[in-house]
Amino acid sequence: MSSEGDLRRLKERNQADIARAKANTPNAVIARYLTVGGDIVDITQTEQDVRAHCHGCPDAVSGSRWTAPFRSDLTGPDSAAQATQEAAAWAQRHASTCRAMPSPGSTQ
Ligand SMILES: [Zn+2]
Repeated sequence: MSSEGDLRRLKERNQADIARAKANTPNAVIARYLTVGGDIVDITQTEQDVRAHCHGCPDAVSGSRWTAPFRSDLTGPDSAAQATQEAAAWAQRHASTCRAMPSPGSTQ
């Protein structure tokens, strides 16, 4: 088994994972980041906050999620925009260092 063949199979698997993730993206997801390990960090918005969640890290692992509450000193779109900016910054940092990989049989 050549390393070139391994690399090609890994790329094909990642592309299949990404295609599957895009097909299953719920409407609440407002942004996605691809981690260096090949999994996804989703950013979702609720009525109170913006949340980032890494699908590669087990839920029990601290640091796999991050929540940016809307700031009470900002109103309306400004508050949501600020929270989204904070969540995106966290997601970008996490995705650039997270080496967790999609688990076999993952349906995300
Ligand atoms: Zn992660």
